[in-house]
Amino acid sequence: MADVAAPDVAARMLPALTDHNRAFWIGGANGTLMISWCPACERYAQPPAADCPECEGAMVPRAVSGRGSIYTYTVNHQPFMPGVPVPYVIAIVALDEQDDLRLATNIVDCEPDSVRIGLEVQVRFERHEVEGESVYYPVFAPRG
Ligand SMILES: [Zn+2]
Repeated sequence: MADVAAPDVAARMLPALTDHNRAFWIGGANGTLMISWCPACERYAQPPAADCPECEGAMVPRAVSGRGSIYTYTVNHQPFMPGVPVPYVIAIVALDEQDDLRLATNIVDCEPDSVRIGLEVQVRFERHEVEGESVYYPVFAPRG
């Protein structure tokens, strides 16, 4: 995965659930952000994967704090996604657990103009229905 957000990352890209990404997408039911973890390398990887990108060992889901900071972002003013009001903030959030652990997401519950690189954020979850199953899309809001 590239380190920097493409400006056209969709606002709410909803997944097809697999055995490997299910924990990530349903962890929000318990308010928990679950990230793929390699026990051998003791490292996280994102997006969710079956095998570690470093050692190809089996990864397991592991709860993280849900705390991070904005690595980069863009404010979208184009109504690409029906039902998603503009403007909205598309961001890459760097999670506190690991320097290179980053997540493409949206920043919510703040004025888009107030967003800046380095802003400390906390995960929250939006519930959506995908093929009869609830998935919990992780979005982030400013902390405190
Ligand atoms: Zn590994």
